[in-house]
Amino acid sequence: MFHQIDFSHERDLNIDELCRRIEAYYPDADFPLIRKAYAFAEKAHKGQMRSSGEEYIIHPINVAGTLIKLRMDEESIIAGLLHDVVEDCDVSPEEIEKEFSHGIAQIVVGLTKISKIKFKTKEESQAENFRKMVVAMAKDLRVIIVKLADRMHNMRTLQYVSEEKQRKIATETLDIFVPLASRLGINSVKTELEDICLRFLHPEIYYRLAEKIAMKKSEREAYIGNTIGIIQDKLIEYSVKAEIKGRPKHFFSIYKKMSARGVDFEQIHDVLAFRLIVNNITECYKSLGIIHSHFTPIPGRFKDYIAIPKVNNYQSLHTTVIGPAAERIEIQIRTNDMDEVAERGVAAHWKYKEGMVSGGSNLAWVQELLEFNQSVENNAEFMSHVKNDLDIGGVFVFTPNGDVFELRHSATPLDFAYAVHTEVGHKCVGAKVNGKMVPLKHTLKSGDTVEIMTSKGQTPNKDWLNIVRSSKAKSKIKAWLLRIERDNNIEAGKETLEKALKLFDTTLKATMKRGDLDKALEPLGAKSTDEVFIHLGSGKFSADKVISAIPGLKPEDIQSAEEKLKEINTLSTKLTKSAKRKAHKDNAVIVDGMDDLMVRMARCCNPIPGDPIIGYITRGRGITIHRGDCTRYDTGDVGRQIHVEWNPEFSFKHPVNIRVITHDRPGILSSISKCINNMNVNIRSAIAKSTQDRKGSFVFEIEVKDYSELLKTISGIESLEEVISVARA
Ligand code: MN
Repeated sequence: MFHQIDFSHERDLNIDELCRRIEAYYPDADFPLIRKAYAFAEKAHKGQMRSSGEEYIIHPINVAGTLIKLRMDEESIIAGLLHDVVEDCDVSPEEIEKEFSHGIAQIVVGLTKISKIKFKTKEESQAENFRKMVVAMAKDLRVIIVKLADRMHNMRTLQYVSEEKQRKIATETLDIFVPLASRLGINSVKTELEDICLRFLHPEIYYRLAEKIAMKKSEREAYIGNTIGIIQDKLIEYSVKAEIKGRPKHFFSIYKKMSARGVDFEQIHDVLAFRLIVNNITECYKSLGIIHSHFTPIPGRFKDYIAIPKVNNYQSLHTTVIGPAAERIEIQIRTNDMDEVAERGVAAHWKYKEGMVSGGSNLAWVQELLEFNQSVENNAEFMSHVKNDLDIGGVFVFTPNGDVFELRHSATPLDFAYAVHTEVGHKCVGAKVNGKMVPLKHTLKSGDTVEIMTSKGQTPNKDWLNIVRSSKAKSKIKAWLLRIERDNNIEAGKETLEKALKLFDTTLKATMKRGDLDKALEPLGAKSTDEVFIHLGSGKFSADKVISAIPGLKPEDIQSAEEKLKEINTLSTKLTKSAKRKAHKDNAVIVDGMDDLMVRMARCCNPIPGDPIIGYITRGRGITIHRGDCTRYDTGDVGRQIHVEWNPEFSFKHPVNIRVITHDRPGILSSISKCINNMNVNIRSAIAKSTQDRKGSFVFEIEVKDYSELLKTISGIESLEEVISVARA
């Protein structure tokens, strides 16, 4: 947030100045060795020029300068001086090891590897970039810190390269190095990189912000001074001693806020941030209390990163309050140690005491990261570690040949199979993870090696939708099932219509030959006869609906049609019933092999009919139904999962009877049916009568979602010309 450390390009920086700065925090450093590294690099780069027209050596000097500002150890600084000699000057790593040390040579080799990585800047390739980066940084985190220092100086001198290169390098920095700096907690580097990226990627925004902030400079400085005075006075009243600073937030964070809220700079109020550095944690909370009792806090803006540190170990209290003159101001409160960690992140853990360097061994997560890098498998784990923090979480698994696949968090072997190839997915019968057979719904972990077994006879089934996590695999399975379902529905639809037509003493073949079925398409709102069969087979169309749309079957009088329609209704219900599984009408969900179980829908994912679902046995509460892709249910305990599916018999709609009185005209039944159907309302049955005064009386049982749908349907029917009245029966 604050640029406490200034990383500007220093034209006149030289080795004497570097040594002077090192001495200030690390008096026992090996200065002859540092000077030797400088001389070595200067000789190696002799004659090479930077795009800025300066001697090349100014680059490694500035990189070392940044590492000194981060107070890194002497090996890192020396590696900073030498970081380009293998890449650009054909110096061998062996030579560096001989002249300097094994550790320094390792860092330079790591950096050379990183420089050869072709970074992809598309978002989906980010994971791959991290993977490469992690492989390159091998066992030593300092590789990344030196790399960040290198990138920092290149960004600082970006104006000297072509515009195309500026965009490419800035994009890469924002995609890869900013998240890395963030994960390593080096905020000073992160914020500086972000602002330079903004300057080259969105110069119009950057310079407008710079101008706006510069415009009110004296006004703002007076305000900051005044506010610091007020806070200082209040703290002294309670005998808290604090160092207080106030600055505008860095541009990138203002820019992020503007784009997140879709507003202009003028509408961003909290551009000022204050930082209180106090002596200990007790004083942090005490100061917070004092601030909150004096200024009104904005609800929801208080964050306690002291009690719950960020994953990168950042600790601080954050709050936003209404400051003097009703300005919103952000206040951070932390101790000196916390501030060190916030600015220098992982670099803060290379400590110097009486000439001893301790490489952050007291820091558990650094240790973890380092240990994660011991093997290829664990590299993947590390990546998922880093990636989870960066919110692009996923798991990395390997094929037996060592190819890497990135899958969604909690992915299964079936996801992996579909990631390899759709056909591998469709034919998947089993999987081995790290050489052991596992069930298809096994949860994969980063670093797993997965081997898929296939069989020619295998086909996907509905349950697979509950097993896979990735949307790609889901859509492949759905597409396959839909194709199968379509074929089945066509068959079932043909069968139903055939039986219905028999009642009118004709056959499907004859009806189609006469072209009468084609004539029914328009009133049914269908595009093809196949569509009619599919809707009939799936139950979307009732048999009587289709029959009444076929012109050749118009009954002589409505009276006699009533009997036939009734018959058809019973028949079509029978057909659908036999096709479906036996199920309780009043349960929305069928639970495998169990009756009368208490079932409730999970509130976290609120499944609705049609969603892939999974049942989870909850102690004392029966079965909770989650969506298949719900991340909340406990995947750890496979034994408590139970197979469930939606009950096709369960009616999610309410049946209502309506009576329609019409003038007795031919085709009236069909036009009312069509009208109801056009509103996407299903007709469950229809009873037709003709009255003595030559009027038609129909009772339709329709299914509606709610009252408003009923009203809509009624008024729709009323608008038909032949209709006299419509009412609930
Ligand atoms: Mn470099």
